[in-house]
Amino acid sequence: MTKAKTEGPRVLIEAARIKRRVRALGKRITRDYQGQTPLLVGVLRGAAVFLSDLIRHVDLKLEVDFIAMSSYGSATETSGQVQLLKDLESSIDGSHVILVEDIVDTGLTLNYLVGNLRSRNPASLRVCALLSKPSRRKLEVAIDYLGFEVPDRFVVGYGLDFDQQFRNLPYIGVLGD
Ligand code: 5GP
Repeated sequence: MTKAKTEGPRVLIEAARIKRRVRALGKRITRDYQGQTPLLVGVLRGAAVFLSDLIRHVDLKLEVDFIAMSSYGSATETSGQVQLLKDLESSIDGSHVILVEDIVDTGLTLNYLVGNLRSRNPASLRVCALLSKPSRRKLEVAIDYLGFEVPDRFVVGYGLDFDQQFRNLPYIGVLGD
């Protein structure tokens, strides 16, 4: 057996820390959206785990929808060419939208998504991202609710994959150490 199979990726952010941070983000959203019914839009597939934990810490009436992007490039790098693979089920006209992303790397995907959603006339639009790699940014994008900053390493786990593997890890890990 290889090292990776027996030991798994090296832990970068352990499960208990993620749990605490997600709870805190949920509480902030609860505070910020009092009296409103936010629509949380998860970006498939990476943000599915984060979104499902996050909404259980938001004590409000809320709605959920999903959007999926395709990006062309190598397994660990986005090429910058992004397009919609799956659109939202409902109109967001007049809704208070929170876009929920797994990780913001170059910012190209988020920049595209924010532009796309903004053109649909939401009442408001904010971004909630579990992870950010600021050193990799090509386009500056505002993140209103952020879990953790991470170094310029390829991370997996808690919804994030490498070649569709590792999404079920309860922690964020680094490959190849
Ligand atoms: P960006 O457009 O910001 O460069 O890339 C965003 C997307 O690339 C993320 O939503 C994610 O799907 C993927 N990505 C970027 N960095 C990582 C990483 O370290 N690990 C994983 N698993 N995906 C990443």
